[in-house]
Amino acid sequence: MNELLDAVDDLTLPRNVKVQTDDGHTWASEDALLVQLEEAIHSTTGRSGGRSASHTRMILDADALMQFHRITSTIGDWCRMAGATVHRDPVQDLRAWYVAIMAVDDTTEFYLRELRGWAALIRGKLTPRSTMQFLRPCPECGANTYINEEGDTVPHPVVIDYDPDAPMSSVRWSCRACGETREGEFAQRALAYDAETRGQETNDNGVVLP
Ligand SMILES: [Zn+2]
Repeated sequence: MNELLDAVDDLTLPRNVKVQTDDGHTWASEDALLVQLEEAIHSTTGRSGGRSASHTRMILDADALMQFHRITSTIGDWCRMAGATVHRDPVQDLRAWYVAIMAVDDTTEFYLRELRGWAALIRGKLTPRSTMQFLRPCPECGANTYINEEGDTVPHPVVIDYDPDAPMSSVRWSCRACGETREGEFAQRALAYDAETRGQETNDNGVVLP
């Protein structure tokens, strides 16, 4: 039961986070994860940082919008099933759902898995990722050019992105010509290959060294 409340709190309550300063550390309040996800929809410059190109920020925002709607709508469904009032505010609704679900005692592993999945998804989305262009054609559609936002035809449609703290396990690629997005082995090989092609330093696993 407490696990379920923890998962609800994780998504709906602000938390105190340690912030490093020149002389030690201080504490700051960070918005609830669902609030941060909603902010990410409207922010094209803030949280994703300066490391990603503008086009990847826009993709991130569209995806944040989609995920936010999906989560809000699922919470609404859960509220209706549990008999809680729906306000279309995911934070308020999820907490109301928790109270209602406690009353009917219909707590299953399913809800816990879903809530934890959302938290992981939002955290993943808010963590800045490093991006680089793959210098070879798209392995899916074979394109070696794509049309950018300005309408110009430019080279290198495939973009590789990864979490700088864990490049190999997090790497994925997407093609701006055909829209294909994939994770896993090919993305890892592409990352390693691209690094070699550029003459960048890599470690034994082919990970680009900073
Ligand atoms: Zn493609």
